[in-house]
Amino acid sequence: MMKVASYLQYLFFLILNTPLFLQAQKRPNILVIFSDDHAQQAISAYGSKLMQTPGIDRIAKEGALFTNSFVTNSICAPSRAVLLTGKYGHKTGLIDNGPNRSFDGSQQQVQKLLGAAGYQTAWIGKWHLQTLPVGFQYWHILPGQGQYYNPAFINMQNDTLRHEGYATDVITDFSLQWLDQRNKQQPFFMVIGHKASHREWIPDTKDLGEFDNVTFPLPPNFYDQYEGRRAAAEQDMTIDKTMRLKEDLKVHIDYEKNLMFRRISASQRPAFKAYYDKVTDEYEAIKNDPEKLLVWKYQRYMKDYLSTARSMDRNIEKVLHYLDTSGLASNTIVIYTSDQGFYLGEHGWFDKRFMYEESLRTPLVMRYPNQIKPGTVVDDMVVNIDLTPTILQMAGCDIPTDIQGAGMMPLLTKQQAEWRKAMYYHYYEYPQDHRVAPHIGVRTQRHKLILFYGPFVSWELYDLSRDATEVNNLYGKPGYEKMTAMLKQQLKQLAAQYEDTMAIDLLKKEGL
Ligand code: CA
Repeated sequence: MMKVASYLQYLFFLILNTPLFLQAQKRPNILVIFSDDHAQQAISAYGSKLMQTPGIDRIAKEGALFTNSFVTNSICAPSRAVLLTGKYGHKTGLIDNGPNRSFDGSQQQVQKLLGAAGYQTAWIGKWHLQTLPVGFQYWHILPGQGQYYNPAFINMQNDTLRHEGYATDVITDFSLQWLDQRNKQQPFFMVIGHKASHREWIPDTKDLGEFDNVTFPLPPNFYDQYEGRRAAAEQDMTIDKTMRLKEDLKVHIDYEKNLMFRRISASQRPAFKAYYDKVTDEYEAIKNDPEKLLVWKYQRYMKDYLSTARSMDRNIEKVLHYLDTSGLASNTIVIYTSDQGFYLGEHGWFDKRFMYEESLRTPLVMRYPNQIKPGTVVDDMVVNIDLTPTILQMAGCDIPTDIQGAGMMPLLTKQQAEWRKAMYYHYYEYPQDHRVAPHIGVRTQRHKLILFYGPFVSWELYDLSRDATEVNNLYGKPGYEKMTAMLKQQLKQLAAQYEDTMAIDLLKKEGL
């Protein structure tokens, strides 16, 4: 007969090994929703009046909102490499979107570190690195930029197959399917990569007309003349001149020649065509009035961009609802961020690249039940290199010393006394696609110093507390000598800290 003590031991053993107990003991699941070109200006949690984003707002409300969240280099593929590695582009090898550049998947990445620590890892949706994912146990990705309608996906057998539906919905459905079918004995790390709200901002048919009754206010610097800012004057990314009528504004769409629109199926096309035929009529009525035409282009751009973002926010709500109903919510961290911000008419622009605020910033909200207090607001300057170390912290993993960012968990639990007081930026891609001169720069809580190089050398200095829209370049103006010298030293120190040898050489040529 079994003694009472050993019987209790046996019972205890059984309890310890029941799935419910294992679930409770597990490390948190980590779900990253990673969008493309989604600006803080378009998110109501950030105070946007352009549209409501209840999905993203819910994450912020139940967790934390980062008011000063920045990127190292405001461009797509390089930002993805940063997300995976926690390092600047000169370390990942991916400094631009150029055709001769590719991401070396053999390097250290967050999913490999988490996989080694017992996490199940997956990336589903837009990937946009030229090489296939390495180190994810599961992936199912859009090729390149992907398509909005009936998108192709590359599966793990390296077959590219078309899937019916709207990209944002299809990506979400595949993600929820994976969550259903995953090995439930392991914690998971999953990235849902959205194509939205990347150019050409093609909305789902169900969101067409969503903003038709809205007239969006022009940003205060919409008619910027770029005085005293050579790089801003020489770019090629204005709504006025650069935006394309057919592809971007969907005027006189050629459904046969243009691949993006040819993908729209016979059942989807009537609603789509009816809507953009009306848009074409609007254009025809005002096309000879340049002033009216420019404002019309801005309004059309906003309607398509925000409608595309609408679908994404609705799908974020759907994912949160899935976590609620599947019992995952209490042990799953949810992070929402974008590869960078975007211009919604500021300086007369669309696109990104510049170190000016709208594209330097990226949205960042996260929810971590019982760890992050609901309604937390973090004003410290965080950079996308901080994501990998934060995720490692959340998973209870060590942070390798070669990672250049810092874990944000102490900021969230308000234990951190020391945090960066200045962030470092380096943009490279020139002249494609929008003729934005390469630059390095430093941003503090109040000031920004930028050095443009390449086609010409030119410095810019801004006092963000007095000039939030960055139209007044103070570099070389009397009274700013001390501040300029101090910022130059900070820039030099950061280039050295991050071991950016190209920048160190550039600064040497400038006498630093
Ligand atoms: Ca992007």
